[in-house]
Amino acid sequence: MTRALITGISGQDGSYLAELLLGAGAEVHALHHADESAPPPYCPDDVVVHVGDVTDHEATRRLMLDLVPDEVYNLAAVSSVARSWEEPDLVAAVNGRAAVALMESALAAQQATGRPVRFVQASSAEIFGQPDHSPQDERTPVRPTNPYGAAKAHAHEMIGVLRGRGLQATSVILYNHESPRRPRHFVTRKITATVAAISTGRADRLVLGNLDARRDWGWAPDYVDAMTRAARAAEPQDFVVATGVGHSVREFVAAAFAHAGIDDWEPLVATDPTLLRPADAVELRGDASRAREVLGWSPTLGFEQIVARMVDADLERAGHPSAGR
Ligand code: GDP
Repeated sequence: MTRALITGISGQDGSYLAELLLGAGAEVHALHHADESAPPPYCPDDVVVHVGDVTDHEATRRLMLDLVPDEVYNLAAVSSVARSWEEPDLVAAVNGRAAVALMESALAAQQATGRPVRFVQASSAEIFGQPDHSPQDERTPVRPTNPYGAAKAHAHEMIGVLRGRGLQATSVILYNHESPRRPRHFVTRKITATVAAISTGRADRLVLGNLDARRDWGWAPDYVDAMTRAARAAEPQDFVVATGVGHSVREFVAAAFAHAGIDDWEPLVATDPTLLRPADAVELRGDASRAREVLGWSPTLGFEQIVARMVDADLERAGHPSAGR
C-alpha cells in the first residue's frame, strides 16, 4: 500500500489530492496547520491528520522519519500573491525555506531506510514573473517579480539541487487551477460567489482590480491528477501543468454572468485601484506538452465548463432556484 504525506491539507488541492489517493487505495497522512483551529474543510475522514506547522523544521523532520512516506506532496503555502507583498518574510519562510527543509527530511528518510521517497513540490507559474513570451514551458527562465514567486522559485530550484543528490523529486509548475472549493480571495471564486449573490439579490455589484490580466485557468482535480502522475514518473523531472488556453479576467466575468443568465453585466462591475497589484503579469499561459507526452496527462474540463461548475455551485450554496441546471 502506498503511504502518502500531504502538507497543506486545508487547501483546495489538498482535499482533491487526498480523495484521489484514498480512492486509489493509498494510506494518506496530512499535516494540518496548528493555527487553524477549525478542522480542514473537505478533508476526507480516512486521512490521518497530524497537527503542526511546516516552519517547525524539527517537527516535520521527525514526522518524515517516522512515516517514511512513499510519496510526499508539498502543497503547504501562503497562497495569495497579494498578501506576499505585505508579508514577504512569512512567505519566504513557508513557501521557500519550509519546502527546502521538507525536501532535506525526505532525503534523510530515504537515506536512512534505503526506500525511495518521491517528493512533489507544488510550484507556480509565478516563478516566471512577467515572461516576455507565452506560452511558458519548463525551459522558460525563472525570473519572479513578486515575493510569492521568489519564494516558490527558491523551492523550485532546490528540487533540482536535491534531485542531483538522489531525491526522487519533481516540481510541478502549476498554472491557476480552480474549483468550487477555491477560497474567495482568488479572483475566479470572488467572481462566481458575487455573481451568485447578485443573482439572489444579496449583492449589487462586483468590485475587481485588473480586468485585463490573462490567466490559464484549469480544473483543480485535473491538476492533482498530474501531481500523482509526476510523482510516479520513471525519471523525475519538472512539469508545467496548464491548459494552454488563456482568458482575461474580463472574459471570466462575462462568462460567469452569462451562465447565471445576466447579459447586461457591465453596469454591475466596478474597478478599485487599490486591488491592482504591483508587477502583475499580463499573461501567464503554460505549454504542458511534456506532461501530455511523458505523463499521458491532459485537462478534462475547459474554461466554459469550469466557469459553469463554479457558478452552479455558488448558486446552489446561495439557494438559487435554477441551481444545478
Ligand atoms: P493568482 O494568479 O494566483 O494571484 O490568482 P488570483 O485569482 O488571485 O489572481 C488572478 C488575476 O486576477 C491577477 O492578475 C489579479 O491581478 C487579477 N484580479 C483582478 N481583480 C482581482 C481581485 O479582485 N482579486 C484577485 N484575487 N485578483 C484579481
